[in-house]
Amino acid sequence: MDHLIAPGIWQIDTELGGWHELNSVFLIEGARPCLVETGPQKDFEKVLAGLAARGLGADDLAYVVLTHIHLDHGGAVGEIAAHFPRAEVICHPKGVRHLADPARLVAAAGQVYGPNLDALYGTMTAVDPSQLRAAEDMESLDLGAGRQVTLVYSPGHAKHHIAVLDDATGVLLVGDAVGVKVPGGGPLRPAMPPDDFELALALGSLHRFAKLKPTQVVLTHFGPAGDPQEALEEAEATMSRWCRVAEQAYLEEPSIEHIERALLERVYDPATEPDRQPVVDALNGVTSNAAGMYGWLNRRHAAGDFGTGPQAAPEQPR
Ligand SMILES: [Zn+2]
Repeated sequence: MDHLIAPGIWQIDTELGGWHELNSVFLIEGARPCLVETGPQKDFEKVLAGLAARGLGADDLAYVVLTHIHLDHGGAVGEIAAHFPRAEVICHPKGVRHLADPARLVAAAGQVYGPNLDALYGTMTAVDPSQLRAAEDMESLDLGAGRQVTLVYSPGHAKHHIAVLDDATGVLLVGDAVGVKVPGGGPLRPAMPPDDFELALALGSLHRFAKLKPTQVVLTHFGPAGDPQEALEEAEATMSRWCRVAEQAYLEEPSIEHIERALLERVYDPATEPDRQPVVDALNGVTSNAAGMYGWLNRRHAAGDFGTGPQAAPEQPR
């Protein structure tokens, strides 16, 4: 069910994999409406129907902003751009060339998602470069009638992540930068996938969000996260804790499997409703988090950065 989360901001459920309340896109209404996220290619028709239900015809959409270019967020961008030819497609500068030529992105996604790629997401088709533009940090988009949104660089989950602040309501759409919390799926979990998760950047983005004093922090997976400052603090605490456990496990045995075992034993809370566990796992499984942190730890190890950085674990052997 599509849902009005604040005046003029609709959350549209993409029904990824046939599951409700897992993945979404957002429509910010105005004379020049803005779509944030496109959902995966497989869910294009659902998103289109959601936009049509809000009265949006093919000439009406002014902006499409991707928080980042992972396939659950931007997989349908080629179809959306073609259907809404007047819309400007905006993402972080590091993402633009992949939207113009998604072959490498799709190949990398195949390695991360495996068979889920075809079953759940589909792939990505190219956007015509004339429709593409790189976001600037803290740039404003004019939605008409005095409404503006601000694009906020927020790396960590991925290097090329941005969040979208609706200036009129103070609602902050945070993509995956704060984590994932789906109804029935248990507590707020960090989303730390391969290939470029970086803890220090992710924490910096959470601090940046806190300074914006949002009235709501809204997750793509899935919806408003409760009291915004509490949600940001919880995200920082959980992310830091998971990374400490992963670092300790990495020092015992540097493998994804061992990190995953350690997370499950030491910090992982299962879904509160057992039938929602596969839903959580489809998008933000413990294996994906273990692999993301393994890559981060490998990079730190290669840089000789162990035990010296601000994120060094107190319980870490010296
Ligand atoms: Zn996501």
